Amino acid sequence: MDLSSEIQFVPMIGESYAKKLQKLGIYTLKDLIYHIPFRYEDTSELSHLADLRQSPDGIYTVKVQILEIQNIYTRYGKHLTQAVVEDETGVADVVWFNQAYLKTSLPPGTKVTLSGKMSSLDPIRPKFISPSYEVLTDKPSIHLGKLTPIYPETKGVSSKWLRSRIHQQLARITIEEWLHDSLRKRYNLYALSDAIQTIHFPQTKPESERALHRIAFDEMLLIQLLMHEKRSLQKAQNAKAITSTKQTRQKYIQTLPFTLTRGQEQAMHEILDDLNQSVPMNRLLEGDVGSGKTVVAASALYHAYCAGVKACIMAPTSILAGQHYETFKKIFALFAIPEAQICLVTSRVKPTTQASIFIGTQALLFQKHILEEIDLAVIDEQHRFGVTQREQIVNKQGNVIHSLTMSATPIPRTLALSLYGDIDISYIQELPKGRKEIMTRLVPDTKRDDMYQFIQAQIKAGRQAFIVCPLVSLSDKLNLKSATAEFDHLVQGPFKEYKLVLLHGQMKAAEKDAILADFKNRKYNILVSTPVVEVGIDIPNASVMVIEGAERFGLAQLHQLRGRVGRGEYASYCFLLTTNPTHEEDERLHVFAQNQSGLKIAEFDLQNRGPGEVYGVKQSGIPTLKAASLLDTQLITLTQQAAEEILRVGIKKFPAIYARLTQFKQDISKLN
Ligand code: ADP
Ligand code: MG
Repeated sequence: MDLSSEIQFVPMIGESYAKKLQKLGIYTLKDLIYHIPFRYEDTSELSHLADLRQSPDGIYTVKVQILEIQNIYTRYGKHLTQAVVEDETGVADVVWFNQAYLKTSLPPGTKVTLSGKMSSLDPIRPKFISPSYEVLTDKPSIHLGKLTPIYPETKGVSSKWLRSRIHQQLARITIEEWLHDSLRKRYNLYALSDAIQTIHFPQTKPESERALHRIAFDEMLLIQLLMHEKRSLQKAQNAKAITSTKQTRQKYIQTLPFTLTRGQEQAMHEILDDLNQSVPMNRLLEGDVGSGKTVVAASALYHAYCAGVKACIMAPTSILAGQHYETFKKIFALFAIPEAQICLVTSRVKPTTQASIFIGTQALLFQKHILEEIDLAVIDEQHRFGVTQREQIVNKQGNVIHSLTMSATPIPRTLALSLYGDIDISYIQELPKGRKEIMTRLVPDTKRDDMYQFIQAQIKAGRQAFIVCPLVSLSDKLNLKSATAEFDHLVQGPFKEYKLVLLHGQMKAAEKDAILADFKNRKYNILVSTPVVEVGIDIPNASVMVIEGAERFGLAQLHQLRGRVGRGEYASYCFLLTTNPTHEEDERLHVFAQNQSGLKIAEFDLQNRGPGEVYGVKQSGIPTLKAASLLDTQLITLTQQAAEEILRVGIKKFPAIYARLTQFKQDISKLN
């Protein structure tokens, strides 16, 4: 039996417990011994019965002998077990509820440790109410009289049960070390077997922390080894260099109708420097909504075109792909690149063509001949794609090409380090000049009419507005209904004299594209929609974003929606309407209203919901961490350093580490 043994075959567990343990994510023996306590109860301080006080919250631990024990039924059908216990200083009563078996397992004469609260009702002698107990033997105790581990539990699996099973298993198995002595010494780490033993059965709090540190170190080190290895594999590949010079870059910048921001320019140079190499680029371009990532990406496509290299850009929706197509046609016209060189690829529009620049949706993934010809792929809104989709486009028969991914979901740097350790990152910190802050307000229902009047005034001044209907459920049908109802209401009431149009996810792509194009051309004053407008669309004349049912949206999504306005020269507004928000939701919306920076909002989100929920950690292919935190900068730095040291010597020189990493990779590939 080794650590990878399935839990139902482990002695003293059995099939029915194995089922329950699955709920805790425990499938193997290894999962069981890595089931980490989330806290410890200190029952190490022993009291004498004579010293017990009736304090309502005090928990007392005593070593006693059972004098009497009996079961009785109360009038209300409850089952009580009553006992009298003594130590050398006095006598106390004990009562347990619905645990009749205790009469048999704790017969008179049994020596036990008890730990629990005292009844405050009994003036004559102290009385324990439902204390935890552990029978004393000549072996060291597992449960009481010490730091007692409390585990994540599930129905039918108590901490006490886990504690004794883990104790039994630790006595049977040997845990093999995989880090060599010198490394352990340098990083002041427990031996692994000590760490595992100690995490469950520590003598002191600092010991338990050191044990946790060792286990976290292991987890993060594996991630860092994997990242470093991916990176060096990638660097060993060959891609077509796409050359640029100071002059060509200057020409690009100067031809644009606006001045690039410092951040845009720097990002552009970082990207073009990468492309100058024959090592495949693997870069993430991060910039807040509206920071102007598109023209930066276009600089790469422009240089690819000049170098005679084919390239593509993939966007998550046909609306976005269509918009990019229009934008790129405009940009490339400035450089006299023939329109025929640019080709739109969606499920409806098949590529014709001898083109060089392909702009499309996921439909690109099915165009094998395009994928074969391109040497640069740009992926917009990368968090909307899975790892595999990215791999499909970037990895041609094991041959990696240049890739640039773009994201407007700001990832705090620490998280990016651990999640994307194999990727270079460029940040665009600032927004283009002249952008005004988007005034964001929570609008109470009593002010709804005022808001409508405000919007009318904006429309009279020539602006346009979005009204986004709530995300009622994930089912498109329901959202459609609420958007349609809202649309009808608005057309008949508040905006009778204006031109409104409805956009929803169930429309055909062609229809959606046409509506957006018309809206952009100012045929309509107001676009009423389901949350489909969320990503990337760019309509600089729009100055008002109304979000109904705002509490139902995540912060990142709200930020994306708000980013649809304030993209031109006009002062812009975002109004949030709610129906019955909880206190927590209300707080979230206030944080949102007070912060413009996506990064600030992301950090708030991160602290409140954790990285797993927010940042596509689940899609990143990294397994759930048991001990390490993706936000632990210090741990990340330490393990990066350790990983570099190991790889510098050569991982094969450390067979145990090599084996462990291989295992880790297999585990991950099973996950994805
Ligand atoms: P995002 O980073 O959200 O993808 P876009 O690339 O769509 O942003 O750019 C948003 C808008 O800002 C576009 O209309 C674009 O033309 C404009 N823009 C980009 N860079 C600049 C700049 N340096 N100065 C002025 N406007 C810019
Ligand atoms: Mg964009």
